[in-house]
Amino acid sequence: MPDAVPPGALSSVPAAGSRRAAPVAGSVRFFYGPMDCGKSTLALQIHHNHARQGRSGMLLTRHDRSGQPRISSRIGISRDAIEVRDSLDLRQLVREHWARGHRVDYLIVDEAQFLCPEQVDQLAELADDVQVDVYCFGLATDFRSRMFPGSRRLFELADDLVAIQVDVLCWCGLDGRFNARVVEGRVAREGDTVLVADTEAGRRHVHYQVLCRRHYRVGDLGPAAAGADQLALG
Ligand SMILES: [Zn+2]
Repeated sequence: MPDAVPPGALSSVPAAGSRRAAPVAGSVRFFYGPMDCGKSTLALQIHHNHARQGRSGMLLTRHDRSGQPRISSRIGISRDAIEVRDSLDLRQLVREHWARGHRVDYLIVDEAQFLCPEQVDQLAELADDVQVDVYCFGLATDFRSRMFPGSRRLFELADDLVAIQVDVLCWCGLDGRFNARVVEGRVAREGDTVLVADTEAGRRHVHYQVLCRRHYRVGDLGPAAAGADQLALG
């Protein structure tokens, strides 16, 4: 959107100075990266920064690692959040918050890969129509290296796509971009999309490991794989 319309421009956009010349809209941003890249930590940091400036927001999540409706980061900080179920209309959620007398300047959505596509459309509508800024955080691809439906819709609709630049390394030292699901010591290629890491592990011998593309492709979990969760030392 240009700041000023030159005289005589072939445009029906109202002249500068008119409110309609620069329609106000919120933005939708999707911060994505592999597991352990610090998405939840960044989500809580952005919430903190906005709240400190007097803005009012809501925290949403889906299947958080804690198993509770919270946004929790691996470095230990967490906040209560609203669990987003498939049937939840996010526009309605915001309206109900208004009805209780609260402002909603922004939404923080963690584990956004688990949103259904319709909910991502609802977020775009909230940004466009009621100027809510939307910050989504999540994985782009699942353990099969396929896009999650929610992430795909975010790639289609978001104003900004931000690859989180926190190095998560494969055991070989290359950048890890693939979230391998490891079932009984082997990289799984099929199964349910949603299987929450920390709650299902242990009991079913399922965990996730970030790998580079080559080691994801060939299913090589590295020298430490044989020795359970032990890191290879020396
Ligand atoms: Zn590797």
